[in-house]
Amino acid sequence: MAYEEPKNVLISSEEIQLRVRELAQEIERDYAADAQLHLISVLKGAFIFLGDLVRSMNRQVSLDFMAVSSYGKSTTSSGEVRVLKDLDSGLEGRNVIIVEDIVDTGLTLAYLQEILHARSPKSLKTACLLSKPSRRVVDVKVDYIGFTIEDRFVVGYGLDYAEQYRNLPYLATLD
Ligand code: 5GP
Repeated sequence: MAYEEPKNVLISSEEIQLRVRELAQEIERDYAADAQLHLISVLKGAFIFLGDLVRSMNRQVSLDFMAVSSYGKSTTSSGEVRVLKDLDSGLEGRNVIIVEDIVDTGLTLAYLQEILHARSPKSLKTACLLSKPSRRVVDVKVDYIGFTIEDRFVVGYGLDYAEQYRNLPYLATLD
């Protein structure tokens, strides 16, 4: 079947680029000029957001990655998440920022915040490109949000549907 790009653009590439640069500035303003930031990204959806975010930052940053999978997210609200790939290094005394693609029910993020907090970082904040507040099941704190959107399934800019569409430079809706 021929490849067809989703046509329902929700947020254009230009809007995303502008907002990601603003977010990087907001984040940088909140830390001392000499503070080193340790950005932790959750694979795979946040990889493009992370790439653009760090390229807008003008200071020492280090990166690490985690991979998680949720157990039966549709049938339980336990928020139990299985860590498929853990971090390469510890977090003690570091200024950690979780970089996520989207906060939906909030279950994944709440769990991540809990397990990373237990590793004694100096500070722990969260940056999400997208938020769907109408879907929230747990009250999770997100310090930096790129865009607040309606309850629509979005793809592009790192986000997939069945591993497709991650390469789109814009965000589109499928439903
Ligand atoms: P939560 O635990 O907040 O319900 O789930 C967050 C995860 O669900 C995101 O990291 C993402 O992988 C997935 N997700 C939620 N909404 C969407 C969406 O609209 N599009 C895509 N591609 N993934 C989504």
